[in-house]
Order: sequence, then structure tokens, then C-alpha cells
Amino acid sequence: MGIVEKMRLDGKKGFVTGAARGIGKCTATAFAEAGADIAIVDMDITEAEKTAKEIAESTGRKVIAIKCDVTDEAQVQAMVDKVVAELGGLDFCHANAGICINEAAEKMTYAQWKKNIDVNLNSVFLTDTIAGKYMLEHGGGSIINTASMSAHIVNVPQPQCAYNASKAGVIQLTKSLAIEWAKRGVRVNSISPGYIGTDLTLSSEFLKPLIAKWNELAPMGRLGKPEELESICVYLAGDTSTFTTGSDFILDGAFTCF
Ligand code: NAD
Repeated sequence: MGIVEKMRLDGKKGFVTGAARGIGKCTATAFAEAGADIAIVDMDITEAEKTAKEIAESTGRKVIAIKCDVTDEAQVQAMVDKVVAELGGLDFCHANAGICINEAAEKMTYAQWKKNIDVNLNSVFLTDTIAGKYMLEHGGGSIINTASMSAHIVNVPQPQCAYNASKAGVIQLTKSLAIEWAKRGVRVNSISPGYIGTDLTLSSEFLKPLIAKWNELAPMGRLGKPEELESICVYLAGDTSTFTTGSDFILDGAFTCF
């Protein structure tokens, strides 16, 4: 069997959070294209259902949509139970849902801080440990978390201290879980994208005017595309990455190199 065949995900079942659009939609599509059955998990169920239908039609895989607020423990447990019941198991997941609150630190309210930490970091703890518990009890699995280059550098010129701290937390959580589960068949890795053209960046009235500045700072002079994150996630979900755990993969066109 050649390397491309070895990387396929035929027979595997997984879910992606924040998959109604953006990066999550893109990786969910790639997982299905590689042969996996997939759950599109999002709080926006209307968009999630549209995405699930689109991916099912283009790939022929079983693709379901599940409404879930990833900050709610009971909803995350119910979501994982539903994935297992409807897809027939759980081999991998991509904890990807996230938000960015741009506010100067001295003006940021404690409620804003807590919201950003809740959606970006506490949700990853919930998703990883609830999915991880199932995987530990059912022969192992692979977990991918979306961190960010903001875990490695402080973005300028926009202020986003809670976002940066939350993403740094995602990387240390990833490494901690990888160590705890290394001998028990559950691998945990993260991806750290640079600026990617999605609704999060392109539809924000606050961020839109900053794109020219980011492009000026970027060694490649452009934003990344969600598609440029797909193959690493398919690799991490599958069986050619069985010695890869506790790693963070920076995909940023060299933005963090200086
Ligand atoms: P996006 O805003 O386009 O999509 C995020 C999705 O997450 C949306 O569908 C939204 O409904 C969902 N979501 C938000 N809060 C949720 C919650 N509590 N429960 C369930 N679903 C929820 O964003 P994106 O650009 O695709 O970003 C995806 C991930 O990638 C985020 O974690 C983000 O921080 C990270 N990231 C993005 C960039 C970028 O430049 N776009 C760069 C680095 C990292």
C-alpha cells in the first residue's frame, strides 16, 4: 500500500467542533474526503446542517450535524454520546471552536476575559477529556486541538490578551494530556495557524482594516487559506502519525520566525 492509501481514514469516525464554517468546515470536509464519517458540531445548527448536507453530497460519506455549545459540559457529553450512537464509534476529533475578543487589557471586563477563556480553553478541556475517556475505554484515538500562532507570539497591532492566553493554554493542555495518555493509545496534538481568511478575520469590522498591516508583516505577504491546514489534520487523525503526540504544528507562512 502506498503512502497516500496509508493516510486514508476509511472506516474511521470523528467529529469537528466549530465546523459549520471556516477552518472546522474545511478540516471536516478533508476528513470525509479521506473516507471518514463525520459529525459537524456547532452552536449554529442551521449552518451546521447546511455544511453537513454539502459534505455528504460531495463525498458520499455519512455526515451528521449536532447542535452543541462546547462550553457546556452536559451538551459536550450528549454530543459525544450522539456521535458514538449515530456513527458507530469515535476514532478522532478536532476541537476547533473558538472566538477572539479584541479589547485593550485595561478596558477588558472580567466577563469578556472569562468568556474568551471559556470558549477557547475550557471547552477544549471538556471536549478532549470527554472524547478521550471514550477513546481510552475503546481502543484509543487521536485528538487534534486548534491553538494559534497567538500562543507563540503576541499579535500586533490589535489587543487580544485573553485570546493569546487561551491559546497558550491549549498547547500546554495538549502536551499534558499527551503525556498522561501516551501509553494508553490516545494521542493529542495541536495546530497553530497564522492569520487565516475566514469569517473570524474577514467579517469582523474591527479586524478588516488591519489585514493590510498583517500582510505587510507576513513573510509571504498574505493570509493563509483554511485549505492549507487540511492535510496536517488528516495526517494527525490517521494511522501514519502513530508516533506523533504532544506536538504543536505551526502553519503560519513563517510569521512566528522573527
Ligand atoms: P469562524 O468564526 O469562522 O468559525 C468558528 C465556528 O465556531 C463558528 O461556526 C461558530 O458558530 C463556532 N462556535 C463559536 N463558539 C462556539 C461554541 N461555544 N460552541 C460551539 N460552536 C461555537 O472561526 P475560524 O477562523 O474558522 O476559527 C476556528 C478556530 O481556529 C478557532 O479556534 C480560532 O481561534 C482558530 N484560529 C483561527 C485563525 C484565523 O486567522 N482565522 C488563526 C489561528 C487560529
